[in-house]
Amino acid sequence: MHIESDIKLGFKDVMLRPKRSTLSSRSEVSLNRKFKFRHSELTWEGIPVMAANMDTVGTYEMAIALAQHQLFTAIHKHYTPAQWKTFMQTSGNKIADHIALSTGTSPADAEKLDTILKENELLKFICIDVANGYSEKFVDFVKATRTKHPAKVIMAGNVVTGEMVEELLLAGADMVKVGIGPGSVCTTRVKTGVGYPQLSAIIECADAAHGLGGQIISDGGCKVPGDVVKAFGGGADFVMLGGMLAGHEESGGELVEKEDGKPYKLFYGMSSETAMNKYAGGVADYRASEGKTTEIPYRGPVTDTVLDILGGLRSACTYVGAKVLKELSKRTTFIRVQEQHNEWFTE
Ligand code: 5GP
Repeated sequence: MHIESDIKLGFKDVMLRPKRSTLSSRSEVSLNRKFKFRHSELTWEGIPVMAANMDTVGTYEMAIALAQHQLFTAIHKHYTPAQWKTFMQTSGNKIADHIALSTGTSPADAEKLDTILKENELLKFICIDVANGYSEKFVDFVKATRTKHPAKVIMAGNVVTGEMVEELLLAGADMVKVGIGPGSVCTTRVKTGVGYPQLSAIIECADAAHGLGGQIISDGGCKVPGDVVKAFGGGADFVMLGGMLAGHEESGGELVEKEDGKPYKLFYGMSSETAMNKYAGGVADYRASEGKTTEIPYRGPVTDTVLDILGGLRSACTYVGAKVLKELSKRTTFIRVQEQHNEWFTE
């Protein structure tokens, strides 16, 4: 047994210290970023906020809505090759730069990935997603995918430590997804005791990735636009959102009316009993579900939420004097705090 006694921080433990700035309005701030990748020769330009590859968030409808704002969507892995064909025929030209195709690591997943990529040459991004990115089998899958698809951009995760980020980048990933246990409908930390406070995971993993010319995607744990700011401030290149984009018109999940007469949308973790019943014929005896199911008040079109998040980001940039999003982490000084916002009048 070994104890690491350095303090590890989450979003709730810090705030950004304001800095002198020459910016007079948030309209002067650009949130656009351009990335070159470590392996793929493709480049990407847009606002690096990404919808999670959950079937309640990473839908085709979400991708169309977010692409209009230059945001990105990791589309969930449960669409069939036929659905992909139809979607790409109608929308592919417009949004291929703003979507990733997700996959797990089973032989059936690999076969499906190859089929969809073969039938839809416009697809550029692959998101290889497993709950535990520390397994040898996962690294082998990343290597095999890089060999088979040398031109594509590969995102792979999830991990939370620098040495594993390096291993995945060396194995062929362009970007590494970071986060174990911070998610809004995740119960991994409750069921297993395993995890890493998200802000420290970002800071340490970004350092490792940037040293090798790779990028990281902070995945999970953002509850408010200020958390998205803190993730970018800590060095995240992309920030992936589940709960913040759930419950909208474009989100998946059933719309239900509750006793209070108001509409709600079902939102659940991809390892929840709900998801396992839907896609895996139930929860296998050897495992526990590591996700929750909840109903969230229906929030209408996602555009309003997107504008709220981007408005918060632009405003944060003016508080610290960052004219472009890329400068935000350079201009970030976190202060450790024991309070966040005033909750007096919050319902
Ligand atoms: P959020 O933005 O809602 O806090 O987090 C979204 C992330 O939670 C997803 O991108 C994914 O990494 C993670 N996640 C989604 N479903 C589950 C689940 O059932 N269990 C766990 N452990 N994590 C999940």
